[in-house]
Amino acid sequence: MAALRIGVLALQGAFREHRRMLDGLGAETRLVRWPAELDGLDGLVIPGGESTAIAKLLAIHGMYGPLRDAFAAGMAVFGTCAGAILMARDIEGARSDQEPLALMDVRIRRNAYGRQIDSFETAVPFDGVAGGPVKAVFIRAPRFADLGPGVRVLAVGDGGEPLAVREGRALAVAFHPELADDARVHAYFLESVAGA
Ligand code: GLN
Repeated sequence: MAALRIGVLALQGAFREHRRMLDGLGAETRLVRWPAELDGLDGLVIPGGESTAIAKLLAIHGMYGPLRDAFAAGMAVFGTCAGAILMARDIEGARSDQEPLALMDVRIRRNAYGRQIDSFETAVPFDGVAGGPVKAVFIRAPRFADLGPGVRVLAVGDGGEPLAVREGRALAVAFHPELADDARVHAYFLESVAGA
């Protein structure tokens, strides 16, 4: 099979780490900042970082329409943390000028974990990923608050809260898989979402 062409949205956040992981898995990667760079992609990663900053830059770069169009035309999208926030149809705790991309029928709550656990690392069993729980880093993580009927939960936390959700070619996780030394969630995206 030819290498999948995967873009990594590189406006703000942990895009280098994602790219490194995808390169390691044999994908043909490209950093994406402007609409024309979406051309011909099989998939796009929207990294974690600060969703208000990414939203602002998406607007400045004229990316909202082209990104939604590329998704509608078949491009897969994988959002992590702030990326997951932007993929939701509804953002609780959004800044007034923070427009969601609305690629998935989910509502998400920003900064849903208390202060003491602003940041932590754990391991979570992940549906469709073999070899035991995946390493997951949480940094001021959001929480999926409400899922539409077509949304499948792939991983849950200790309290039963969804940590990874999928709706067709849209995959969103509340944590940062790119910051742990474990590429299996990225491999899942390549094999089961972008390459499906
Ligand atoms: N709290 C951040 C936001 O709302 C997300 C944090 C992250 O991506 N690690 O954008």
